[in-house]
Amino acid sequence: MKYIFGPISSRRFGMSLGIDLSPNVKSCNFDCIYCELEKGEKTDTIKNPPQVEDIINDVKKGFEKFQFDVLTITANGEPTLYPYLDELVDKLQTFNKKLLILSNSSTINNPQIQQILMLLPKKQKYFLKQNQPHLLH
Ligand code: SF4
Repeated sequence: MKYIFGPISSRRFGMSLGIDLSPNVKSCNFDCIYCELEKGEKTDTIKNPPQVEDIINDVKKGFEKFQFDVLTITANGEPTLYPYLDELVDKLQTFNKKLLILSNSSTINNPQIQQILMLLPKKQKYFLKQNQPHLLH
């Protein structure tokens, strides 16, 4: 199971099964000095991104093997750089489990990313409604 990890305990969300969209290399467009991940080159893309079907197969195995409360999408960095995120989120919604995306928010002004976030449950949409990050310059 290359694309999932955990489950790990989250104080806010309970037990979280992680989904890693870039298991082989850090893929982030930031280079924060406090980052807990290994140092890596900044990038705006995930190179050799995994296929959605392969990730979904791993998630299915995770459901068979573990008990958990939420699915959390990460990318060994920034998950919104994943080029098939819309398709992935769409398919993950069918598991009927709370879905989180652990993001640095740098792509929040991208209309495509906003569309994907609108697929998330209603409560999570309140962030976009209240904070209106798409209006930031
Ligand atoms: S945004 Fe997160 S993953 Fe990326 S460098 Fe900063 S702390 Fe690390």
